[in-house]
Amino acid sequence: MAAFIPYGRQSITEADIAAVIDVLNSDFLTQGPVVPAFEEAVASSCGAKHGIAVNSATSALHIACMALGVGPGDSVWTSPLTFVASSNAALYCGADVDFVDVDERTYNMCPTKLAEKLDEAAAKGTLPKVIIPVHLTGQSCDMAAIYAAASRHGVRIIEDASHAIGGSYAGEPVGNCRFSDIAVFSFHPVKIVTTGEGGMAMTNDSKLAELMNLYRSHGVTRDADLLQSEDPGPWYYEQQHLGYNYRMTDINAALGLSQMSRLSEFIERRRAIASVYDRAFADFPVKTPWQHPDADSAWHLYVIRVDEQQAGQSHRAIFDTLRNAGIGVNLHYIPVYLQPYYRELGFKPGLCSNAEAYYSEAISIPMFPTMTAEQQERVIDAIGEAVAG
Ligand SMILES: *Cc1c(COP(=O)(O)O)cnc(C)c1O
Repeated sequence: MAAFIPYGRQSITEADIAAVIDVLNSDFLTQGPVVPAFEEAVASSCGAKHGIAVNSATSALHIACMALGVGPGDSVWTSPLTFVASSNAALYCGADVDFVDVDERTYNMCPTKLAEKLDEAAAKGTLPKVIIPVHLTGQSCDMAAIYAAASRHGVRIIEDASHAIGGSYAGEPVGNCRFSDIAVFSFHPVKIVTTGEGGMAMTNDSKLAELMNLYRSHGVTRDADLLQSEDPGPWYYEQQHLGYNYRMTDINAALGLSQMSRLSEFIERRRAIASVYDRAFADFPVKTPWQHPDADSAWHLYVIRVDEQQAGQSHRAIFDTLRNAGIGVNLHYIPVYLQPYYRELGFKPGLCSNAEAYYSEAISIPMFPTMTAEQQERVIDAIGEAVAG
């Protein structure tokens, strides 16, 4: 049988490898000059003032919630169609979570549903402190509409842009925080740019940047401008908050910095693959990803939806047929609140009907920049056969 084609995978060049080796031969494996250089590269590429690099997007989401003051008694709302980390971050802070259903075309948090839910919460005095819209598959949420709804009620916004580095919204790069307080990127190997493990929180607010900088490293500072006591000597540092060790190493940052030079190449390649799929599936009984006119997706994922009636077989059967043909299909995501841990918190099926309908039909198919034309043809042929029965 032909080799397995994964749904996503990293692209590593000799230049990436050399950049990592340079750090291994240098004085600093961590807390050296490469982390700030990587932060600067990401910040300038997406047009944000500050980038705080950490060891995962999960950590970035956590310190972002902390910086916005999320704590016990607060509530945080996110999308049900996301990786569990988007809502776990709020739980780490002792807050409650809730979910806003998705738009049935984009699969992103629906601004209309958000506005209605916020109005109801305002009437009951149960407004969330923060909302975390997620740019699923790399397509930006309709951030202007989300921002309008949230800011009417003084609700802060963290964009989970884990899928979306290199994408844009209303002609501007995702991550510039024009419609949010903080935006978070992930550098896990299946994402668009990788550091192995890693993440970054972007913000234009220097106070939030300073707080996240403290929270990623034990809440400890040596910065003379921040010290609360008189500096007794060069050994001195102060722990001012309860922080964590969420730092990114220079080894990881070197890989990320090297990868950033190919960001536009990655995005171009992903867009080309998406348009080949779009054309190939035009005559298949599958729904291709609808694109919001204001969003230019980074195409982390390409998700098709299969109508069981039309295809004449079950979602599960199509999924199994593809896996058996060596096509690494996947499903992003199980609605978070259906996870056992969340059911234990009291969530029940039926909460977000669009997200559940999506879950019963969606299939993520292979999408990565090093995918060859041959591999893509194999994917298309296998899908053609699977949905034709
Ligand atoms: C991957 C991902 C995360 C978590 O990223 P890590 O870097 O693995 O912690 C969070 N949210 C979304 C939407 C993701 O896809």
